[in-house]
Amino acid sequence: MAKTQSFKTESQKLLHLMTHSIYTQKEIFLRELISNASDAIDKRHYLSLTDEKIPQAEYEIWLTPNEKERTLQISDNGIGFTEEELIENLGTIAQSGSKAFMEKVEAKDLSIIGQFGVGFYSSFMVAKEVVVETRSPYATTGYRWSSVGEDSYTIEELDRKDIGTTITLYLRDDEKDDEHDEDFSTYLKEYTLRRLVKKYSDYVRYPINMMASKSDDKKQSVEKETLNQMIPIWKRAKAEIKEEDMHDFYKHHFNDYENPLKVIHTDVEGMLTYTALLFIPKKPAYDFYSEHYEKGLQLYSKGVFIQDKNKDLLPDYFKFVKGLVDSSDISLNISRELLQQDRQVKKIASHLEKKIKNELESMLQNNREEYIEFYENYRITLKYGIYDQFGLNKEKLQDLIMFKTSQSDDYITLKEYLDRKKEDQKAIYYATGKNKASIMALPQMDVMKDKNVEVLIFTDDIDEFMIQMMQNYQEIPFKSVQQGEADFVDDTKKADLKKKEKENKDILKAIKKALDGKVKDVKLSGRLKESAVCLVSGEGLSLEMEKILKQMPNQTEVKADRILEINPDHDLFIALKKIYEKDENKIGDYASILYHQALLIEGLPLDNPHEFASELTKLMIESSK
Ligand code: ADP
Repeated sequence: MAKTQSFKTESQKLLHLMTHSIYTQKEIFLRELISNASDAIDKRHYLSLTDEKIPQAEYEIWLTPNEKERTLQISDNGIGFTEEELIENLGTIAQSGSKAFMEKVEAKDLSIIGQFGVGFYSSFMVAKEVVVETRSPYATTGYRWSSVGEDSYTIEELDRKDIGTTITLYLRDDEKDDEHDEDFSTYLKEYTLRRLVKKYSDYVRYPINMMASKSDDKKQSVEKETLNQMIPIWKRAKAEIKEEDMHDFYKHHFNDYENPLKVIHTDVEGMLTYTALLFIPKKPAYDFYSEHYEKGLQLYSKGVFIQDKNKDLLPDYFKFVKGLVDSSDISLNISRELLQQDRQVKKIASHLEKKIKNELESMLQNNREEYIEFYENYRITLKYGIYDQFGLNKEKLQDLIMFKTSQSDDYITLKEYLDRKKEDQKAIYYATGKNKASIMALPQMDVMKDKNVEVLIFTDDIDEFMIQMMQNYQEIPFKSVQQGEADFVDDTKKADLKKKEKENKDILKAIKKALDGKVKDVKLSGRLKESAVCLVSGEGLSLEMEKILKQMPNQTEVKADRILEINPDHDLFIALKKIYEKDENKIGDYASILYHQALLIEGLPLDNPHEFASELTKLMIESSK
């Protein structure tokens, strides 16, 4: 019994786009169908290694043109579809790349269509009807799926024994008039099929056989001709591979629509023999920063696919790398569990890690612009790598991170910072905030500007957490300008402060008392110039870290120690002293306003905005009296 069902909405949109496509490169449909067929064979082969119910076969892909019927068939003896898989895979856009593609389409960004793998639906660019006949080893019967590419498709049972799939395209009619020049018949011609397979699918590992029917006067026969060389791109001599071929391979194989930022091709022979093709995507995948992102490299053994995303081949901090490894040292019949323990896999992983690190370092050294493009996209991953596992990998990664600074809008490395720091400087200074402008406006920056000390600008949430793990770089400790005692206060100034603290003992005590529970200490400050007050934190948790931790779900109460620093030379402090002399009781209100101001400057939420507003109001009214 035939069942007709509707396509999911986004599939309908994509189909509509395909059927009405004015896109000139319609020929890519063949590449898409052949690559699906090849994937399906990979899957069957892989499953056959661990599941004896799935027989292995002489794997092949067949192309059968039929000029009389105007049909082109693409067949494979891959894994086939169950009924559920037909609905799931052909009734909805399953695959992430296609989804990202749809987003571009919705944003009317059609410029990318040419570079994008658009999968099965691209067959509707050339076919008015598509029929899929299939049999999965997991199903008790075969199925026939058909659609004319509008809003619905039909599925019915089919008597079929052979595992695999046959896709029949009923080609559209040629359109040749003043406006159109569409020659769909060309896809029935042997020379076209030869040309297209050569162009797009030469590297497919299974034979793509053209089944051309020959007829002379007397008899009809079918001739089989293998169209592809079957040598995967990574098996070819490095020097022979054109950059463009490599880029095309990457885009198609890893579903990207942009060329990669970097290609790393490595052939290793000796104790361990393998080839790796690694790519750094220009932009992170759309789900890169979500939990759903899966890192990993494809794993092949002598050209035969074993696993799609082998996680053990890549450390987390290089999880943005895509690619594949083909090694003759890995056994074909190895199961996933064993693969994890495999010594060869571990060794390859450690080689690759070094290779990637070296490539990045040399990019940083030799092509700064390219490195910055990389760094802007992936820095969080590197920084997280330093932080993760209590800083276990910090040594490996610390020379790959860069910061903008108070004195430079260009990124500099930590090494460059040390190379140009002041001779007597004993720390690597940093300041944390929303952006450079707000950091530069921090009261704590007064002294650093005054003494011309370079300060690293921290604007990523992870920065301070990472620094806690690093603690120092080349034995020079990191120090926050917003935490602890101020540096760069000279001895005369220190002596002066001490004297003033003594003189103002009472008022400082009164302010501290008024702010009891809010601040840990109240001090006179040596680091302020223009500003009247600032808030610094003690050692350990900083105010910025507190802010970030508070945003996290299920966070127990965390609080950084707050120390209020007051500029003894500021008019405000002089005014405060006068008020205190006149009426000691008034100091509480002023202290509270001062504290709230300091919170505001730090970008921290006010403990009690209402209280702050009413104190200010009171003050304004009083000052008018
Ligand atoms: P993708 O980019 O994932 O290949 P497609 O739209 O081309 O997207 O195909 C959707 C899904 O249908 C595939 O991911 C695969 O699971 C399944 N599929 C496509 N062609 C075949 C085939 N020839 N044999 C078995 N499964 C297939």
